[in-house]
Amino acid sequence: MTIHRLVLATRNAGKIEEFRRILEEIAPGAIDLIGVDQFPELGDVEETEDSFRGNALLKARTIAQATDLPAIADDSGLCVDAMNGSPGIYSARWAGVHGDDAANIEKVLGQLGDIPAGKRGARFTCVSAFAIPGGEETTEEGILQGEILMSPIGSNGFGYDPIFRPVGYDLSLAQLEAHTKDAISHRGQSLRAIAPRVARMLDGLG
Ligand code: IMP
Repeated sequence: MTIHRLVLATRNAGKIEEFRRILEEIAPGAIDLIGVDQFPELGDVEETEDSFRGNALLKARTIAQATDLPAIADDSGLCVDAMNGSPGIYSARWAGVHGDDAANIEKVLGQLGDIPAGKRGARFTCVSAFAIPGGEETTEEGILQGEILMSPIGSNGFGYDPIFRPVGYDLSLAQLEAHTKDAISHRGQSLRAIAPRVARMLDGLG
């Protein structure tokens, strides 16, 4: 079996853990996933596009070119109906400081105020992107529908997980076991959807 080296174009620890878990489940032992932190000379890719797809592609393409290795990335976020789809592509820095999960949660809860259960609909979106240096690119989207709880609960996962209850569950994403989240999550869906194309593109590299 050929083991393919692939750079994961993110520094978000929560995402890295999920990518590793989900890819290992899809293709056990077939992928040597290298973190972008193994390339200390590389700076962060600025997310200058106005869509999840645009930013995911930008990250995968930039890191593939900079490392000369195939790269996988995602751009993801929380879209709240009562907030006209915000925070959306600004999810990671909604409260001002990039990656401050507690502050982001507090801001969203504050903005929703006392809007009652049943009117707090939301979804997570994830677009995964895969790029070969100077070559082919592909993307796939995954969506998880749910609603925003009145207060945070649970300690698994990352980001907005403690305030998000997926449709069909009585628990927040942060109360679900990792493999249960992976089975339904936006990231799991997009990675499972993109996996066959990634495998074909990697096979084409020999
Ligand atoms: P980016 O894709 O790196 O721009 O940031 C995505 C942001 O969306 C994260 O920092 C989280 O705030 C949020 N997010 C994305 N996916 C998830 C998830 O699975 N659970 C909780 N929050 C998430």
